[in-house]
Amino acid sequence: MILQSKAAVVTGSTSGIGLAIAKALAREGADVMINGLGDPGQIERTRAGIEAEHGVRVLYSGADMTKPSEIAAMVAEAEDAFGRVDVLVNNAGIQFVSPVEEFPPEKWDAILAINLSSAFHTIRAAVPGMKARGFGRIVNIASAHSLVASPFKSAYVAAKHGLVGMTKSVALELATHGVTVNCISPGYVWTPLVESQIPDTMKARNLTKEQVIEEVLLKAQPTKEFVTVDQVAAIAVFLCSEAATQMTGANLSVDGGWTAQ
Ligand code: NAD
Repeated sequence: MILQSKAAVVTGSTSGIGLAIAKALAREGADVMINGLGDPGQIERTRAGIEAEHGVRVLYSGADMTKPSEIAAMVAEAEDAFGRVDVLVNNAGIQFVSPVEEFPPEKWDAILAINLSSAFHTIRAAVPGMKARGFGRIVNIASAHSLVASPFKSAYVAAKHGLVGMTKSVALELATHGVTVNCISPGYVWTPLVESQIPDTMKARNLTKEQVIEEVLLKAQPTKEFVTVDQVAAIAVFLCSEAATQMTGANLSVDGGWTAQ
């Protein structure tokens, strides 16, 4: 177990990729603070389940990733409770699909806040402790859309490209402090986020559900298979390992060959 006596914060971990990462870090011995939206009863069952299965402490923060003060309070709460935050995974994200001229400005603002600015706010709160301890692993969940674009996703593509830029800059700042900062860029992973954008894409492109899956989602993914949440989580664990000590400022693709084209 590579994260024994370590502690992690994973934003947006009540579902999908974030939840798989939280579980994988707990499996490696880390205490974990999970975060995200959802039904309180379901979240408590998830929290207690990870704690029981892996024998680590698991706390939940309901911090809203659009609210800088709540984000700072979440990191402070994790540091108080665990005595440290060694691993920070910025995973919370939302999607909205629309032609740019019809893109609602409030959706643009929400996507930029959750998918990009929240990572700035968690990082600025967590870095002082990481620097003081001389160790940290910051993993930002970007996307194939951090490297290439698709139409109708202007805000998401802008936010994910921005996240990679911030990752590189902060990686350079922290390079001599034992803190690495990297991105993982998945292609299409089968999660509620992907499922929920199917109706809008059906409307925007006048397609059936099957056509959206085959002709839009998996069209760009040469393997013609979805990535799994566990495959993304395994890369996050690898980035926390000794073997990844010299990896920083990188953007790791796990996209079935999408961005090789
Ligand atoms: P998901 O919808 O299953 O999970 C998103 C998580 O973010 C949930 O826990 C949700 O509650 C949380 N969240 C949303 N808004 C929030 C807010 N305001 N405050 C706090 N938490 C909030 O989605 P997912 O597919 O697991 O996506 C996770 C990350 O992976 C996102 O950053 C997404 O852009 C990225 N990603 C996903 C795919 C994919 O195909 N699913 C591909 C590439 C990148």
